[in-house]
Amino acid sequence: MAEVVLAGVGKVYPDGTRAVTDLDLRIADGEFLVLVGPSGCGKTTALRMVAGLEDISEGEVRIGERVVNRVPARDRDVAMVFQSYALYPHLSVRDNIGFGLSLRKVPKSQIREKVEHAARLLGLTDHLDRKPRNLSGGQRQRVAMGRAIVREPQAFLMDEPLSNLDAKLRVQMRAEIARIQRDLGVTTVYVTHDQTEAMTLGDRVAVMKKGVLQQVAPPQELYDRPANLFVAGFIGSPAMNLLQGTLTGTEDDLRVRFTDQSLTLPREVLAARPALRSYLDRPVIAGIRPEDMEDAELADGPEGARLTCTADLVEAMGSDVLVHFAVNAEQVVTEDTRELARDMGTDVLDKAEAGPGGTPMVARFSPRT
Ligand code: ATP
Repeated sequence: MAEVVLAGVGKVYPDGTRAVTDLDLRIADGEFLVLVGPSGCGKTTALRMVAGLEDISEGEVRIGERVVNRVPARDRDVAMVFQSYALYPHLSVRDNIGFGLSLRKVPKSQIREKVEHAARLLGLTDHLDRKPRNLSGGQRQRVAMGRAIVREPQAFLMDEPLSNLDAKLRVQMRAEIARIQRDLGVTTVYVTHDQTEAMTLGDRVAVMKKGVLQQVAPPQELYDRPANLFVAGFIGSPAMNLLQGTLTGTEDDLRVRFTDQSLTLPREVLAARPALRSYLDRPVIAGIRPEDMEDAELADGPEGARLTCTADLVEAMGSDVLVHFAVNAEQVVTEDTRELARDMGTDVLDKAEAGPGGTPMVARFSPRT
């Protein structure tokens, strides 16, 4: 196992497309790092440069002690797991898993031992003699994982390995990947565009946009202290509410003013971000997580933490209920437990149907906003 380091890594494709710019990442030995970002942000390109499947235009990639820029993929001692699984249809599960070892002329008895060990880890023992076409999507994904595991590589590189699975299986395999990675302790770089996957799997999550790293941090830190608006809007589902306003008041009593109402900035927020004072009388964007807003009739909020909103949509999603409001012209989403929403839903709906009355909401700013 090994540390994986990207230092000032950049990629320009032969047609002139710049896919990655000055990427610095240090993935510790045994760490699970997730690269996440919207389609086209360069995360696959970054992973492929580590794997040796793409030339590195600028900077350096190190695996362990070795600079690998000029080392061919097969000699980098990493195992890649693709979303397409890339299984050989004519080979059994056993031979698919052991394929890389046979190529390397590993003795048959050792291959058998390693394959059976991986199969046990992955719950594939009963399927070793089947062909891939006779397996479910989740089982095929496990075979692809098995092939990576038996190689005992310095690092696992995974490119959207769950994206071909249905939602339920994805959640199940996600947990399995987390468990296997923890058990084996192999340094892992995992690419996904799914922020939930990123947040649940990563020891740390690296967010990319247009080829540029925006922030790399443990999931909770990313959620509580996004480095910029992009990360704030990208991480979290439903997404953080971002409301345009103006910072008014005095240095010690700051308020965010929307067109005809305002919210007091709590002391914790100011304490966490004292530089906010320099934005006095300037336009700002207030970020409020949906779960940080509650119905004012059901929750107490400090003075100055009330917004009057007009409800226009309630979405029940089983355990959670999303309520959409308009604050001035902007849409706000709040999230509540089912119990709270039972009262609130009717209340809100009545008011929505009744027209532009407006339901008072308590907006609890927490320091993370
Ligand atoms: P996705 O989630 O859609 O796979 P991504 O974040 O992994 O996206 P990349 O596949 O790394 O993004 O692509 C980054 C940028 O590089 C995109 O603008 C893409 O169009 C471009 N790109 C990718 N491969 C090539 C190539 N072979 N030649 C030219 N441009 C490319």
